[in-house]
Amino acid sequence: MSNIFGDAKTRLSEVFRRIDLSDDVEQRLAHPRLTLVVNIPLRMDDGSLRVLQGYRVQYNDIRGPTKGGIRFHPDVNADEVTSLAFWMTIKCAIAGLPYGGAKGGVAVDPKTLSKLELERLSRGYIRAIADVIGPDRDIPAPDVYTNSTIMGWMADEYYKIVRKKVPGVITGKPVHLGGSLGRESATGQGALFVLNRWVERHNLKPQNLRVAVQGFGNAGAHFASLANQAGYHIVAVSDSRGAVYAEQNLDPDLLMAQKRENLAISKMMYCNSSVCESAEYRIITNQELLELDVDVLALAALENQVTGQNVDRIQARHILELANGPIDSKSDEVLHQRGITVLPDVLANAGGVTVSYFEWLQNRSGLYWELEEVSRRLKKTMDRESDHVFDLVEELGISLRTAAYLHGVERIVGAIQQQGTREYFSED
Ligand code: NAD
Repeated sequence: MSNIFGDAKTRLSEVFRRIDLSDDVEQRLAHPRLTLVVNIPLRMDDGSLRVLQGYRVQYNDIRGPTKGGIRFHPDVNADEVTSLAFWMTIKCAIAGLPYGGAKGGVAVDPKTLSKLELERLSRGYIRAIADVIGPDRDIPAPDVYTNSTIMGWMADEYYKIVRKKVPGVITGKPVHLGGSLGRESATGQGALFVLNRWVERHNLKPQNLRVAVQGFGNAGAHFASLANQAGYHIVAVSDSRGAVYAEQNLDPDLLMAQKRENLAISKMMYCNSSVCESAEYRIITNQELLELDVDVLALAALENQVTGQNVDRIQARHILELANGPIDSKSDEVLHQRGITVLPDVLANAGGVTVSYFEWLQNRSGLYWELEEVSRRLKKTMDRESDHVFDLVEELGISLRTAAYLHGVERIVGAIQQQGTREYFSED
C-alpha cells in the first residue's frame, strides 16, 4: 500500500516546527475536505463493459474554489490523489492564486484505449463528478496522460449537464474551445523562469550548465525545448520506455517532432514511440539518466523517482522538480545534507496552474489575451514568488522546500485566522 500522503504531510510538520501556529491550522490542513470515489461504466468498442474506479479529492477551499488536474494512469489510487490535492493547496497559495487545491484521476492504462473509448471515459468521469465541480467550486485541468482534447470533451459534457456554456469549469482546453494561449507550455515555461531566477541569483550562466530531463511529456518536453532556446545544454531526456544521451547537446525539438510524426502515423491519442528510438543519440537506461553527472536534473515524470534506492548515486548539483513529489522526504533530507539544491515542485511547477488561472479569468470576462500578455504575467508571478522563497532561505537558513511551504502556509494561515481560531474565540 502506498503512503505518499503520509510522506507529503511530513513536509508540513517541518513548517509547523518553525512557526508558532494555532492548533486550528494543523487540524484544518490534516485532512481533505471531500473525497469522492466513483465507479465509471465504460462501454468498450467490442461491446463489452468495463467498470473503472475514479476519484476527485478537494483538499482545502479556504482561499477559493479548488483547482487541480485529472490523471489517467494505472497506478492512480486514493492515497496518490489525496497527496496531489494537498500539494495543489500549498502550490496555489505559493503562487498567490485565489484557489484551494484538488486533484482527480481514473485508474486506467489510457494507452490501451481507442480514441472513442477515451472520449466515452472522459465524458463518463465528468458525469460521475459533475455534482461537486463548477467554475466557482472546483475546476479540473490536465495532468499525466490527459491533454487539451480530453479537457475539451470534459467541458462539453459538463455544459450538457448544466445546459449552458460555462468554460470556466475546466482549464487546459484547446484554444479554439476557450483555452488560453500559452497553457500547453506553461508548466515548462514557469519552471524555466524559476530556474533562471535561481541561476541569476547565484551568478551562474545557462551556457555553462548541462541539464538532464526525466519525462518527455507536456511538462518535460516544453521545458527541454525552452531551456535549450535559453542557452542551457540539454544532454539527456527520457520517457517511460527509455532515455537518450549526447555528450555535447541534444535537440529536444527534433525529438518532439519525431514523437509528433509517429503519433500522427499511429492514429492513437498517445505516442507509442519513445525518445530512445531516435537514431541520433546514445541510448542509456532511465536509471542512468537520473544518476548522470550534470548541473541540473529536471524531474518531469512521476512521484518517488529519487528514493533510498538511488539517492546516494545522484550527482546533479541542482534538481528542478517539474513533477509532483518526485523525491521522497527522507531522500530530500539526504540531498539537503549533501548540499544539492532542490527547487521544489510546489514552486517550480506552479506555472501550469498559474496559466490555468489566467484561462479561467479570460473565460469569465470573455476577453482573450495575446500570448505576450500571458507570458508577461506568468513571468511576473514566477519571479515574484521565487524571490520571496529565495529571500526566506537566506533569512532563515532553511531549505528551499521548507521556505516554499512556509510561504504558502502563511497565506493559508492568514485566511484561517481571518475566520477566527480557538485563540480568538476563547478571548475573555
Ligand atoms: P504527460 O503525460 O504529458 O508526460 C509524462 C511523461 O513522463 C511521459 O513522457 C512519460 O513517458 C514519462 N514517464 C512516465 N514514467 C516515466 C519513467 N519512469 N521514467 C521516465 N519517464 C517517464 O504528463 P505531464 O503533464 O507532463 O506531467 C508530468 C509531471 O508533471 C506529473 O508529476 C504532473 O503531476 C506534473 N505537472 C504537470 C502539469 C501540467 O500542466 N501538465 C502541471 C504541474 C505539474
